[in-house]
Amino acid sequence: MAQILDGNRIRDEILREAKVRVERLAATGRPPGLAVILAGDDPASEIYVRNKIRACEGLGIRSEKVAPPATVTTGELVAMVEELNRREEIDGILVQMPLPKQVDAKRVLLAVSPEKDVDGLHPLNAGNLATNRPGPRPCTPSGIIQILKRSGIPISGRRAVVVGRSDLVGKPMAFLLLHENATVTVCHSKTVDLPGVCAQGDILVAAMGRPALITGDYIKPGATVIDVGMNRVTDREQAAVIFAGRPQKLADFDKKGSLLVGDVHPVDMAERAAAYTPVPGGVGPLTIAMLMVNTIEIAERRRNGC
Ligand code: NAP
Repeated sequence: MAQILDGNRIRDEILREAKVRVERLAATGRPPGLAVILAGDDPASEIYVRNKIRACEGLGIRSEKVAPPATVTTGELVAMVEELNRREEIDGILVQMPLPKQVDAKRVLLAVSPEKDVDGLHPLNAGNLATNRPGPRPCTPSGIIQILKRSGIPISGRRAVVVGRSDLVGKPMAFLLLHENATVTVCHSKTVDLPGVCAQGDILVAAMGRPALITGDYIKPGATVIDVGMNRVTDREQAAVIFAGRPQKLADFDKKGSLLVGDVHPVDMAERAAAYTPVPGGVGPLTIAMLMVNTIEIAERRRNGC
């Protein structure tokens, strides 16, 4: 039986530890402060931001939502970010993506002070990560390292294959694994013989946004598989192929009209891997937990003046 890496359990453990740190900061000055900029009315972004604010409330982190209308300009958003950069009680600034079409997202992200860049997406922090210097790390990949470490999965000396090279997940994931002394291969849409390369991975991280593309032949028997993909499948035929022999899953589909599917075929993954993260309930819960940890770390660093 494969070990299921339970993201909810690990998230709860991390949040319990985080709460102690928030209480210490609050008792000796003020609680950490996180500002979230949510521009426009994208329904998925609204849910993400609501969950982030709820997580802050649960820990006692002071949160603030800045919600300009969908017509906001790049200049207006940059001015909002600069104002937050100046405010002493704001430790972390998060700009929820995607921004409205007319906005130059790169310019807005560049305006966030690297010191308050709670998502670790500023180029200076990407450089800190590449050169293994201190600084905030992107939340999803650092959550994955927590899953591996807290589940006792060895990383050092092992072969890790990361599928996906985005600035948000794939690239920082590769650097974090490298700094943990894994031998890392990064794959993308132009990789030749993707199944063959993936099948060399003792640790396989799938972050493509392609539902159930990674099937059994991509998975080395006994590997640890981390499925980052979050794909909403709305086509019943596609769901029936993915969940063949799992009538309960199809019944769920019929009730909801959709199912959340990772980038790895869920049935094959359970059969071939020694350990894996399920979707949902694997990587997802860690992303917000690591956002909280990043906010606290920035607050502690600013408090200590380093
Ligand atoms: P992204 O920016 O769209 O990047 C996708 C990457 O996958 C690209 O590097 C792309 O290659 C590669 N790719 C796409 N199709 C491929 C194929 N057929 N074969 C090999 N590589 C392929 O996506 P992202 O932001 O990194 O997110 C990836 C997935 O993770 C999405 O499903 C997203 O929803 C999910 N996600 C989950 C969480 C969470 O908290 N669980 C957080 C963030 C993201 P090229 O570079 O060559 O185009």
